[in-house]
Amino acid sequence: MTESHPTERHEAELETDAPDSSRGGDDSSEELVAARHDERAAFTYTPAPESRSIVHLKSSYGLFIDGAFVEPADGNAYKTENPATEEVLAEVAAAGLADVDRAVEVAGRAQREVWGPMPGAERAKYLFRVARIIQERSRELAVLESLDNGKPIRESRDVDVPLAAAHFFYYAGWADKLEYAGFGPHPAPIGVAGQVIPWNFPLMMAAWKLAPALAVGNTCVLKPASTTPLTALLLAEIIQQADLPPGVVNVITGAGSVAGAALVAHPGIDKVAFTGSTEVGKDLQRALAGTGKHLTLELGGKAANIVFEDAPLDQAVEGIVNGIFFNQGEVCCAGSRLLVQESIADTVVERLKRRLATLRVGDPLDKNTDLGAINNAAQLAKIEELAAAGEAEGAVRWSPSCTLPSKGYWFAPTVFTNVSQAHRIAQEEIFGPVLSVLTFRTPEEAVAKANNTVYGLSAGVWTEKGSRILWMAGQLRAGVVWANSFNRFDPTSPFGGYRESGFGREGGRQGLGAYLDV
Ligand code: NDP
Repeated sequence: MTESHPTERHEAELETDAPDSSRGGDDSSEELVAARHDERAAFTYTPAPESRSIVHLKSSYGLFIDGAFVEPADGNAYKTENPATEEVLAEVAAAGLADVDRAVEVAGRAQREVWGPMPGAERAKYLFRVARIIQERSRELAVLESLDNGKPIRESRDVDVPLAAAHFFYYAGWADKLEYAGFGPHPAPIGVAGQVIPWNFPLMMAAWKLAPALAVGNTCVLKPASTTPLTALLLAEIIQQADLPPGVVNVITGAGSVAGAALVAHPGIDKVAFTGSTEVGKDLQRALAGTGKHLTLELGGKAANIVFEDAPLDQAVEGIVNGIFFNQGEVCCAGSRLLVQESIADTVVERLKRRLATLRVGDPLDKNTDLGAINNAAQLAKIEELAAAGEAEGAVRWSPSCTLPSKGYWFAPTVFTNVSQAHRIAQEEIFGPVLSVLTFRTPEEAVAKANNTVYGLSAGVWTEKGSRILWMAGQLRAGVVWANSFNRFDPTSPFGGYRESGFGREGGRQGLGAYLDV
């Protein structure tokens, strides 16, 4: 199934129960398809690694404050590593309280004196410039993202970086049209935004946060996740290259418990935008209650991907794979619960297993790779713990035959069947390449099971009936419902959750509202 880089040592061998292609006698088309799939599974791929030479890693990175890279006041730093190899990539500044103070102060000044009063058409020019430079430097950004995060280059190149550019283009277009956006005749920015982002889509999350905030006249202090600071720092370099006035965007790296906590609590911050775990999101909500600060939270999820018996099954199987194995399943809106109608459950699971046997796990920089490394050791431990709990609670665990590199953080694509709604793997966010399969008989049962979670971020519905899609979309308590597709993102389309998945919307016209004083 997987061809890893020849220099990697291989240790972890997993069991397989993939269908045996050697059995004879049945020449039905199902069998022929199965045989063809098995051939593909056995196909060996020559490594096709993307060159790293386009990335110029510095040995150490400072904080980006007031338009310049500066040393942190107390000189603290930490190391960021490549999760696929555990190689140290660079040393990165760890911001302390004095650095947060300074970043917030310069952002406040830039907002009052320069960026806030600037006509929208002028702000747009800067944002269009940032978007164009992201496109020009897209290969560099994609390689750096895969190095620091562990995601396959195919995804960073084709999803993360183009979407980051698209967000800047889209919100640049709004900057001079705000009075027509439906927020009153004179929509005003909130002030200084403190933005804290996670490690799963480091560059894309930075773009989702910065582009709408800047378009409407706020200035920003952005804190990337500790394990993935490098593309946010490259974006800071792009912002410098685009000649944004000093202080409009500031990037402070460092620990969430220090720099992140100080940033959101800072009295000079008017708006907090957070994407990350539900646990930290709840803490922030408690801490900010009564302060008058604006807050939006984009938290976890446990999305149901619902397949009806009349669905186009080949497309549905692709949608299931994309729903849970895209970005190693480290996606807040991942389709981590497959709800499949009982009449087709066996067929779907069999086809899914065959498809999974063709996935390639390994070197994130290899252009053939489908699944890369898990971002960090703590996340891998969490996935392992929840998968073990699934087995202990009686679900049946399956992974395709899979050779994992011995260095780095790796987890094979995994499917659990015989899952009941009470199992932890059906309730808790795993944030890894692990799918829990449940069944249903009627649309009402599908809705009841899909909504049986504390989250409410996304869902998928697979059926040929348009009327059923519309009915389901009205019943599902999810901010986003995809029809016959999954994990599709577009800057024009609002994204966000209900319940413990958070509140507020990012993307689209609604995404402007989160940064306006309305
Ligand atoms: P966290 O919520 O801890 O981290 C998200 C961001 O918040 C990071 O930048 C982090 O900094 C920062 N942060 C952490 N603590 C604080 C704080 N007290 N005040 C302000 N900022 C803070 O997520 P984890 O990385 O620990 O991941 C844990 C789980 O969260 C995952 O297993 C997954 O279930 C979920 N998750 C959900 C995401 C989503 O997109 N909705 C994204 C990432 C994780 P630092 O990196 O330095 O800790």
